[in-house]
Amino acid sequence: MQLNFSGLRALVTGAGKGIGRDTVKALYASGARVVAVSRTNADLVSLSKECPGIEPVCVDLGDWKATEKALGGVGPVDLLVNNAAVALMRPFLEVTKEDFDRSFSVNLRSAFQVSQIVARGMINRGVPGSIVNVSSMVAHVTFPNLAAYSTTKGAMTMLTKSMAMELGPYKIRVNSVNPTVVLTAMGQKVSADLEFSQKLKERHPLRKFAEVENVVDTILFLLSDRSSMTTGSTVPVDGGFLAT
Ligand code: NDP
Repeated sequence: MQLNFSGLRALVTGAGKGIGRDTVKALYASGARVVAVSRTNADLVSLSKECPGIEPVCVDLGDWKATEKALGGVGPVDLLVNNAAVALMRPFLEVTKEDFDRSFSVNLRSAFQVSQIVARGMINRGVPGSIVNVSSMVAHVTFPNLAAYSTTKGAMTMLTKSMAMELGPYKIRVNSVNPTVVLTAMGQKVSADLEFSQKLKERHPLRKFAEVENVVDTILFLLSDRSSMTTGSTVPVDGGFLAT
């Protein structure tokens, strides 16, 4: 999809690897200035070499104070992609308090916090904006050993709707994308059991998992004016899985 984001500044979290990294590259290629936020500095150094001029910010988004320090003065942002997440896999009965807290602080609370920072800036400047929360199809269906992760994504659906409702009057749209498995590092981990993975794939009407590009295209569509009447929605990128 050919979209033009010239003149706009975007912020992408979880920018070091996987979907976040390719989202940064696509926004950069579409003319946006990009703030790339991630946890491992080496990833940001290599990304900066691929996309000269992006603004790297290295921070653990699970740490509220560190995030406030790193991003509180981030300046004008028009487009936000809340993408950072961890998928800590454990059977429900074995999930620890640490697993639960880490899952919620990185996957949900950071989206809440970064959105507050960015939306306040948009409102103060009187400009419209678009925010995309990268969720998952497990916001809607269960997946083995992902109780904590899935719960963060289920909650993200309501965060998306609540933000859309309260920020709509300021012309700020908020949507989520809800992919099926994408074979990034995270996707390989959650689908590592080959028999399970094969059966899961066959349950998709399109008989395949998503590619990173499928998710990035949908993120860019939701960030762009091409989706100007869409807010508060959860958009599946799931090969039809949720329809079955
Ligand atoms: P990856 O694990 O490949 O990449 C995640 C990125 O987020 C990494 O750069 C990672 O940095 C960063 N990140 C993680 N925790 C933090 C943190 N505390 N602070 C800052 N950055 C952090 O994941 P994907 O690209 O696969 O996932 C991206 C999004 O897509 C997530 O929201 C995920 O839930 C969602 N998703 C993924 C699916 C899949 O199958 N892959 C399916 C459905 C949804 P580092 O490595 O340094 O920790």
